[in-house]
Amino acid sequence: MPLGDPNFHERILDFDRDRAASCRAAGCPACGGRLHAANYRRKPRGWLTGLGTEHDLRFSFCCAVEGCRDRATPPSLRFLGRKVYLAVIVTVIAAMRDGPSERRLKMLAETIGVDRRTVARWRSWWLVTFPTTPLWRARSAAFMPPVEPASLPASLLERFAGEAGERLTAFLSFLGPITGGASMRAF
Ligand SMILES: [Zn+2]
Repeated sequence: MPLGDPNFHERILDFDRDRAASCRAAGCPACGGRLHAANYRRKPRGWLTGLGTEHDLRFSFCCAVEGCRDRATPPSLRFLGRKVYLAVIVTVIAAMRDGPSERRLKMLAETIGVDRRTVARWRSWWLVTFPTTPLWRARSAAFMPPVEPASLPASLLERFAGEAGERLTAFLSFLGPITGGASMRAF
């Protein structure tokens, strides 16, 4: 199970570091100025114990030019929008085909502090909001046969190859473009 595997968490952190480096190299999106690190510290619940505090950082940058100070936030495989929950947990839970069982909900509530309403919101984001994103509009046609929208995100997750951790990584990487900047604020 990828969630319990420290190597999986290190791998997605490496992806985020690479994306942060490219974002910084590109400079300020507004004026092209130099970017300074201005990371957000998140409190992602559901981490493994023993992972370093770098796992709690949402990489972000701030323009160094006086009067601009624009922000640049690279895509992330670890965090979806402003949610404190890990993208991976959101995905796994939302991917439960028929919704999580009572027992599973109770377990989630106790271990990562997620209640039934939160889970319902995540599922609704996948079913209602995700299909309207520019990412999905642009990329969905490439899947043959088409991904069943009523079964998102499970129907999309299963299109990626490899063992569970590799599939999740590929899936989160695919979602990357919608995790940066302001595009996920509605989430
Ligand atoms: Zn700037």
